[in-house]
Amino acid sequence: MPLDLVLRNARIHGRGATPFDIGIAGGKIVEIGQIASDAAVDDAGGRLVTAGFVETHIHLDKSCILDRCHSETGTLQEAIAQVAAAKRAFSEDDVYERGRRTLEKAIVQGTTRMRTHVEVDPRIELRSFAAIQRLKRDYAWAIDLDICAFPQEGLLNDPGTEELLIAACEAGADLIGGCPYTDSDPHGQIARIFEIARRFDIDIDFHLDFDLDPARMDLMEICRQTESLRYGGRVAVGHVTKLSAVPPAELANIARRLTDAGVAVTVLPATDLFLMGRGCEHNVPRGVTHAHKLAEHGVTCSLATNNVLNPFTPFGDCSLVRMANLYANIAQIGTAQELAACFDLVTTQPAKLMNLRDYGVAIGNPADLIVLDCSDAVQGIAELAQPLFGLKRGRRSFTHPAAALNPPA
Ligand SMILES: [Zn+2]
Repeated sequence: MPLDLVLRNARIHGRGATPFDIGIAGGKIVEIGQIASDAAVDDAGGRLVTAGFVETHIHLDKSCILDRCHSETGTLQEAIAQVAAAKRAFSEDDVYERGRRTLEKAIVQGTTRMRTHVEVDPRIELRSFAAIQRLKRDYAWAIDLDICAFPQEGLLNDPGTEELLIAACEAGADLIGGCPYTDSDPHGQIARIFEIARRFDIDIDFHLDFDLDPARMDLMEICRQTESLRYGGRVAVGHVTKLSAVPPAELANIARRLTDAGVAVTVLPATDLFLMGRGCEHNVPRGVTHAHKLAEHGVTCSLATNNVLNPFTPFGDCSLVRMANLYANIAQIGTAQELAACFDLVTTQPAKLMNLRDYGVAIGNPADLIVLDCSDAVQGIAELAQPLFGLKRGRRSFTHPAAALNPPA
């Protein structure tokens, strides 16, 4: 088969230090080895080449709204109220424009697959959802975007929301989410979300257990329903900051429960670190669940961005390398083995969470490849390696040149 492109001198994550050439045809990886070809060439220069980063949890629709919100207490409750008020004025074009800025940042940071949560309720109706559907179409050349419709402000307490969630599913939502902690009946909401998911045969991703009191966990109800409805492997939960407040032996027991049920976990370090422990004036707890420890027990886990430039998280560059580095720092990770595990938490593990069956640098998979300015994953996380360029289905989708010094002549 004639090649369209050869990516030369690529150190492939998981294949040791020897550089390979990657042959690409028809948007797919068709050859890996030492390739003799007169096809066009991109040179990775011996740097690390990996399949693009996988973002499992971001909110494009409510990103970049700091100019219309104000934060005084910095609590979760304030963030929800601030965004709920701002949301009433969102138009479809406004959501598209802010979402576009955030999505383009993620693309330049090397993300090629993404799950975005989109709020649906009687105030915003389907305006944000429609805007994100347009973004999904318009940026398909650079990123595969999955849309998770969810009720941020509750479901059973918010008449009209369920009908809109169903309308979003009928209009092509890829999956459905839940937010039991804002509902008057958390377990009732969980049951309704499972019912809708089964009706449309789609996966589920809950916002869950977003405080530091481990006394009562909705997580156990999620595991129970996942098992009884045979939905294992199709359910993820985000935040679960309560798990940062349980001792290691109990965390191991919960990890086994999650693994057995087939429930995956996304940890959102930037938001959890920003919002948790606001009641403490000193010795503030970090509030970030140890995803790498859960993963050691077999739980499918990811690290993700969540919010960008809004009252939930007034920061954000959409870099998953930065998120993994931040997490490693918070979790006091310093060994090469654990740093490599952090790299997995933004690549292979989230791909598994999203049930992506064509992910990775392997023959037959789409040529969704990024070149990181480092020689291996450990260095990449430790030194915050920048992606220099990326390919989406074999076509150059972004270029991000390395910084250069300009010494005097
Ligand atoms: Zn979220």
